[in-house]
Amino acid sequence: MADSISDVSSELFRTILMNTSIGIVWMDSENFKIKTINPALLDVFDLDENCIGKSGLDVFPDLILKDNVEIISDIIINGGKHKHVIQLLKNDAEKSDDVQFFVLEISRVNFENEFGLMITLRQIGERLFFEKRMAESKDKFDYQVAGSLFSKAILVGEDAQIEIANERMILTLGKGYNILGSSIFDFFPELKSQKIAELYKLCLEEETKIFERCIPIEININGVLKHLFLKFALKPITNKKGDQKAVLLSVLNITDLVLAKQKLYDREALLKHFIENLPVAINVLEGKDFVYRVSNKISESVWGYKIDIGTRVIDTVPGIEGRPIFKNLQKVFNEGIQYEKKEYEYVDAKGNTQYINYIFQPIRDVNGNVKYVMTLGYDVSEELKYKKQLRENEKKFKTLAESMPQLVWTADNEGSADYFNSNWYTVTDIPYGENPWGNLEKLLGVSPSEAKVLTAEWYNCIANKKVYEKEMLFNNYKKTGKKHWYLVRAIPIYNDEKMVDSWIGTCTDIDDFKQLQQQKDDFLGIASHELKTPLTSLKLYSQYMGRNLQNLGDTANASVARKMDEQINKLTELIAELLDVTKIQNGRIELKSSKFDFNDLVNEVVEEQQMASRHQILVNAKPVGMIEADRHRLSQVMSNLIGNAIKYSPDADKVVVTAEHLGCKIRFCVQDYGIGIPEEKIEHVFKQYYRVSGEKEHTIPGLGIGLYISAEIIKRSNGNIYVNSERGKGSNFCFELPVKN
Ligand code: ADP
Repeated sequence: MADSISDVSSELFRTILMNTSIGIVWMDSENFKIKTINPALLDVFDLDENCIGKSGLDVFPDLILKDNVEIISDIIINGGKHKHVIQLLKNDAEKSDDVQFFVLEISRVNFENEFGLMITLRQIGERLFFEKRMAESKDKFDYQVAGSLFSKAILVGEDAQIEIANERMILTLGKGYNILGSSIFDFFPELKSQKIAELYKLCLEEETKIFERCIPIEININGVLKHLFLKFALKPITNKKGDQKAVLLSVLNITDLVLAKQKLYDREALLKHFIENLPVAINVLEGKDFVYRVSNKISESVWGYKIDIGTRVIDTVPGIEGRPIFKNLQKVFNEGIQYEKKEYEYVDAKGNTQYINYIFQPIRDVNGNVKYVMTLGYDVSEELKYKKQLRENEKKFKTLAESMPQLVWTADNEGSADYFNSNWYTVTDIPYGENPWGNLEKLLGVSPSEAKVLTAEWYNCIANKKVYEKEMLFNNYKKTGKKHWYLVRAIPIYNDEKMVDSWIGTCTDIDDFKQLQQQKDDFLGIASHELKTPLTSLKLYSQYMGRNLQNLGDTANASVARKMDEQINKLTELIAELLDVTKIQNGRIELKSSKFDFNDLVNEVVEEQQMASRHQILVNAKPVGMIEADRHRLSQVMSNLIGNAIKYSPDADKVVVTAEHLGCKIRFCVQDYGIGIPEEKIEHVFKQYYRVSGEKEHTIPGLGIGLYISAEIIKRSNGNIYVNSERGKGSNFCFELPVKN
């Protein structure tokens, strides 16, 4: 008993093991190889010591497979112990009437760092067994009786009359004791045509013992046709009276065992099927000659050679001997260490270059020697091609980004920046490789709260998938050490599923443009300021002239002088507007608050505008009452909105002015029925110098600053201004101001 527990244990232990009436077997938990078995257990199964080294699955399948598979798996994995009563029928027909019941105990034991499975069998009498069973629930009892057809009967004569039957047989057949004395074929005519009947006849006539390991029968038990597998023994005897030939029938229902085995085979077939159809090339190569023993379907296409089982690798793949891949194969076989290679470039039989990821894995025999090498391989050519393309695209993008004069960056779909071109680091003083957006305070020289607002604006665009656009003053422009203007833009990039994949951003240097704009604004400021003095004088002179001409009775020239005065007024207004722009830009526009009646102001402005217009200005004002604001500036806004409504509705004949009080705010609106504003341009109309450039607009004069000034005034009054407009139908410009109740 080499390699057994007793070899390494004390003499006392060996004596106990050898002499105990408890059957003991110790198997390894992987393939149930029997390592140690004691005489008591050998006796139960009529075995000898030759079974050592064999698999317990083959030696005593009943013990392992029948009802116990799940229990054993659980114990192997989770440890612990299990105990229950089992019944066994000996293979020996001589002892077939020996009913044996055992307490089976299964446990996992560790021995010399190896997991083992210990099974012990302790014999008990039938009475004990029944006592135990009866103690269990009725359900379980019913199940056990129905499921384990372990029964005995003495059958007499050709028609197989049941002379004696044990309780289990009676229970199993389900016909009660009145079956005694009758032919079994009367109750179960379906058996007559089955092999079991033939064997009975043979035993009876030839007086030979018959033992069948597994015979299928179909039997109608209580109206249900059951397909059973039986292990059964027939022994010729003389009946009690000694007058007739009789047979002792012993039957064990092994249906569960057969089905369990079947399942195991099915699993094996499934595994085979699974391997065969795996998308990974699997080959098993035997010995140092690397003979193909297993090769699944896909292998030939992955490796590009026709593979015949039984041939050597060197015959299948000519010239492989000299290549590193073969040396790796040999190394795995000789050293028993797995080898893995990624993106292996390989030329197949047709001369095509393939890229393969492969793993060589040693498989050892029971003695631990490497017997096979299993190769797993899959084609990654396509993947690699895609990867290469991706790398190329990335390279192209980076080259493009690097060649651009702008600062370029990309961000993932959650808005985290993941790439910056090198311009960032030559232009700003952010250290190389750092994320400039990660430190807005430094990049823009803003306070943490301002940085917070900017960050929130960015994430708002991310959430709404809206183009981000903002002019930003970068703190330290490396070349001059001064602040520098950039136009920051970021657009979402969509994938095939129309989901935002990433964002690409640019920062364009607009500092020169900003400076020019500043120069222009400065110029306008200075020019309008310089124009103001001569214009005031001009106005005084024209009024003086007009009055003199009137006094002289020259009414024709007096009217010319009045017209001159009107034009001077227009010019004065324009210049005042230009000056307002300069004031706004320099933050010098001041609002002078006073209390006044809002409806009075509306009427005043309307009256003034009505004088100069052919349109009818309808007023629909609800009483608003006293408010506190800059009266002069508000009248400027109202005039501008009414003036625009008239100007941009050349074909209409009315505009409607409304005013109302809405809770804690007031609203003023001017509705016209004119050309309207194209939808995509609406958001721009409040911007400085912006004018809609369309066929309908181009004959209408203007500077594009009226709405800008109005918006600034309303904004500074803590109100808001907006427009609803439809092209060709008209516009409704409104402002709202908060009021104290
Ligand atoms: P402008 O001096 O050009 O009228 P504004 O700042 O007052 O400048 O208006 C800006 C632009 O908005 C205009 O050029 C015009 O295109 C558009 N706009 C303003 N009011 C109206 C209106 N009532 N109907 C249609 N378009 C308008």
